[in-house]
Formats: sequence, C-alpha cells, structure tokens
Amino acid sequence: MDIIDKPATTRGSSDRFIGDVWIDELVHGEPPSRVRASIVRFAPGARNAWHAHPVGQTLHVLDGVGRIQARGGELLEIRAGDTIATPPGEWHWHGAAPDHFMTHLAVFEAGDDGAESAWGEQIPDRDYGAAVRPRGG
Ligand code: MN
Repeated sequence: MDIIDKPATTRGSSDRFIGDVWIDELVHGEPPSRVRASIVRFAPGARNAWHAHPVGQTLHVLDGVGRIQARGGELLEIRAGDTIATPPGEWHWHGAAPDHFMTHLAVFEAGDDGAESAWGEQIPDRDYGAAVRPRGG
C-alpha cells in the first residue's frame, strides 16, 4: 500500500462554479479504472453550474448544509450524513446553503470517451434562492 501524494487543493473554476469552492482530488483512477473521487468544499452561497455525469455520481455530505436540484425537480436541502445518487446523464447542480458551508465527497466515473462531466449554464440567484422543500421527519 501507499500513502499517496495528493495534488494541491484547487479552486473551482469561475466558468463552472459561483462563489468560493475548493476541490481536493482523492482518486483519479488509472485505466482500466475510471473512478474519480474528490472532496469539495463550498462556502455559503457557492454552487456549481448545471452539469451531468455520463455514468452517474454519488455524493456524500460530510459537513454543513447545502442544496441540490435535478432538472425539472424540486430544490432539496441536504445535510451532513446524506448520500445522494444522480443517475447517468441526469442534469443537476449542488452547492452550499446561503448561510452555511457544505462539504461533500463526490464519487463518479469518466465515460467511455474519458469525459467526466458535461457542463451547462450557471445557477442564477433567483433559482438558487428559490424555496427549498422542507425535510420530512
Ligand atoms: Mn454532480
């Protein structure tokens, strides 16, 4: 086994994120593995743009409070301990709540062509700030 040297923490790029977002890549599988795993830290109000993962994605919220939405779906609150699966090709976005940090682990795979995600438009404030579905008991 190895305790591996991880790449430096990078800032989420302004064409794919709004607000302060920091990314630590944990796993970038060598072929035939296509697994990817990252810790992503969102400051309050920060979120990613609309995107889709060719082979889906699993998110596990490690800390804080955030929000997530699938195309055409309700805006959902997510909290530490929640695990969210997005199916292959489903357009969605995720980020922190307006008033809390949110950190998640993201696990996904690159597609056949090596592409990791397809990216679309940013989430404007009016959509980000829409009513969040209250959590049931
Ligand atoms: Mn995603």
